[in-house]
Amino acid sequence: IFETVELAPRDPILGLTEQYNADTRTEKVNLGVGVYYDDQGRIPLLKAVQQAEAQRAQAAAPRGYLPIEGLAAYNKGAQTLLLGKDSAIIADGRALTVQTIGGTGALKIGADFLKQLSPNAKVVISNPSWENHRAIFERAGFVVENYPYYNPETHGLDFDGMVGALKALPKGTVVVLHACCHNPTGVDPTAAQWQEIAATVKNAGLVPFLDIAYQGFGDGLEQDASVVRLFADLGMTMLVSSSFSKSFSLYGERVGALTLICGSKDENARVLSQVKRVIRTNYSNPPTHGGTVVASVLNTPELYSLWVDELGEMRNRIRSMREQLVTKLKDHGVKQNFDFVMAQRGMFSYSGLTAAQVDALRNDHGVYAVSSGRICVAALNSRNIDYVVNAIAKVIG
Ligand code: PMP
Repeated sequence: IFETVELAPRDPILGLTEQYNADTRTEKVNLGVGVYYDDQGRIPLLKAVQQAEAQRAQAAAPRGYLPIEGLAAYNKGAQTLLLGKDSAIIADGRALTVQTIGGTGALKIGADFLKQLSPNAKVVISNPSWENHRAIFERAGFVVENYPYYNPETHGLDFDGMVGALKALPKGTVVVLHACCHNPTGVDPTAAQWQEIAATVKNAGLVPFLDIAYQGFGDGLEQDASVVRLFADLGMTMLVSSSFSKSFSLYGERVGALTLICGSKDENARVLSQVKRVIRTNYSNPPTHGGTVVASVLNTPELYSLWVDELGEMRNRIRSMREQLVTKLKDHGVKQNFDFVMAQRGMFSYSGLTAAQVDALRNDHGVYAVSSGRICVAALNSRNIDYVVNAIAKVIG
């Protein structure tokens, strides 16, 4: 059965990390990753998480199966983070949230469910997008196309191109949008641009699928949810995938959620019953540990405020790294303008470095970035930034 199986291409980003791990240079820096590191270059274990885990260990609770849709307290917490505690949509019973295996799991469950509902719909994603978006929706059986997003000339958003393309899409097309901190570019629409994008999506009868994997890394938890609330308040029915991998620094615990906003309470109950069937036939029910930890942080006031502070520290550290990168490149006499890096949001930056410059950074200096020029600003720290700046200055020439 396996004789004719062809070798699949290596995952470009994980492949880069393999190469980095094999590099023997001590000064090497990996900016190719999609992970937040602290100033010591470590993945943090948040204090709020440690305390919730200690409580859990103390309680010595049994590990039975969770319900198909996951922990109720987790789902409530995730939904409130998105829609706000005074949300009329929640009060009306129009939102449902299920615990998923990371943000990836939320996208996959959402994609499988959509395929069941509209088998002939097309899916559009931004150009460029997180590389797994295309793969997930194609695997679910959809034809996936791009809408214009990034303009390399301006290092900003191709707003007219984006809105023009959305307007021309057939009704019922699923449009995947990054609600904040666009991966890979770091370029987000402004609030005014979002208003127009949301109105366009609504008028064209498109199905919004908002992906929010970095809530809290842009301007704050509430601010970063504003795009989700904008779409929801326009009365659209929609899907939202959330990930807590980064915001809780719980990558390996696979903590995510899929939220669906329905037209009515009755519709909500029917949709939930079908989403549960999709989950049941994928992985039956989600794991307990990460979900329990996140649920207790979200629902315990002291842990919640500790988490908000720790998330704020991560956000501020990234911002400070952006500032330092831009300033230090200038101080180093680099003529090329990098000011756009300051306007970008979240962990990533489309740095504007060419594929050849990225190659030179890796080969000559052991500084690893994605060939598109994407760098993870959250992997810079006070110890490696001067080395990276020096390396960039050298390859730019
Ligand atoms: N969406 C985007 C835009 C992402 O960047 C990521 C993670 N890199 C995900 C979804 C998936 O998140 P998770 O790791 O929780 O599956």
